Amino acid sequence: MSTSIRVIEAVKSVNVQGSPAHWANEQGTRFKNPWTSWREHDWRDMYYILFKHNRLTPKAPENMSTLLPTRKPTWNHEGDDAQKLKATWIGHASFFVELPARANTEGRVPKRGARILFDPIFSTHCAPIKLAGTARITPPACALEELPEVDAVVISHNHYDHLDRPTLTKLAALPRKPHFFAPLGNLAQLMSVGVPQDNCHVLDWWQSRRVEVDIPSQDGSDKTVPAVFDLTCTPNQHGEGRTPMDRMGYPKSLWASWVAREVLPDLSSTSPKTVYFAGDTGYRAVLDEQNEDEGPVCEAFKQIGEKFGPIDLALLPIGAYAPRRFMSTVHCSPKDSALVFKDIKAKRAIAMHWGAFILTTEPIMEPPKKLKEACEEVGIEEGAFICTDIGQTMLYD
Ligand SMILES: [Zn+2]
Repeated sequence: MSTSIRVIEAVKSVNVQGSPAHWANEQGTRFKNPWTSWREHDWRDMYYILFKHNRLTPKAPENMSTLLPTRKPTWNHEGDDAQKLKATWIGHASFFVELPARANTEGRVPKRGARILFDPIFSTHCAPIKLAGTARITPPACALEELPEVDAVVISHNHYDHLDRPTLTKLAALPRKPHFFAPLGNLAQLMSVGVPQDNCHVLDWWQSRRVEVDIPSQDGSDKTVPAVFDLTCTPNQHGEGRTPMDRMGYPKSLWASWVAREVLPDLSSTSPKTVYFAGDTGYRAVLDEQNEDEGPVCEAFKQIGEKFGPIDLALLPIGAYAPRRFMSTVHCSPKDSALVFKDIKAKRAIAMHWGAFILTTEPIMEPPKKLKEACEEVGIEEGAFICTDIGQTMLYD
């Protein structure tokens, strides 16, 4: 018996009077960062990125596979582990998350929990042209074909390292098609890789969908058990763009983070698990040599914390932050991410967006070191916000 997926309207979206602040036109087809923590790149930034950046990016160390090992994922779908929340880092910002397999009101337990794949990229390069500078320096945890059956594919924005068309094309061609979720402005992109329109869900910030997956029962009967979760598109501070033309005028597609929250049967005594995927995000805008602790930070994360906190598991980016003048607006430093962890009221977090592609100028193995220091500095308990090996499956009760 195969599993079926339904996607319906979920919790009422936040009511906004008139156009939301992140819409750059009345139709909601152009977007902007509405935050005081945002700064547009100026001519000096553009000069830097065009003429200096590539020369300053580091080379991958020879022993990269020792420094950041890749393991074969264990996934841990079965036995007692089925009841746990599970997350496997595939590499870069790609995560495979399985929500706990919960019993229904009749006591029937599904064979597995609902599964979400975030920002999958299995390609060898994160660019349309395979230049050496855009090549992976560590492999993904497994081949795409080795991934377990997926229910929802969730995309944060259209940059090449997050929306990988070859990967999405293969996922869209699976006989049992997952549903795809992305922020506004990405429908054409999804449909052009072969996702049927009925399986495309393109959302604005604060909009939600309820995903119901009918999963065969563990007891071997012909019954199915629904695994249900709400998926909410939430704000972050970033941008979009796949071609130089995308730099003309306000962005045509939106960027987002996402919250996945279990929906449990009525009268359930357990509390639903909440997972936060930050996508690609900055936290503030600083100039080089500026005191980072001065100036505004992105308000989105406190808002997310108020609405959804505590977050059981957050997947947070810690790499691609230097030089700060250019990168701080769009990418968190480890300290920024430690502060995001606190703002969203996370209990646990796994680091991502480092160690796969050389996007920026910080030393390749610096993010985990700086994360440790940052956690100590801002008072995050040891072991609460960790870096894992690629492919390491983490389990949470
Ligand atoms: Zn990006």
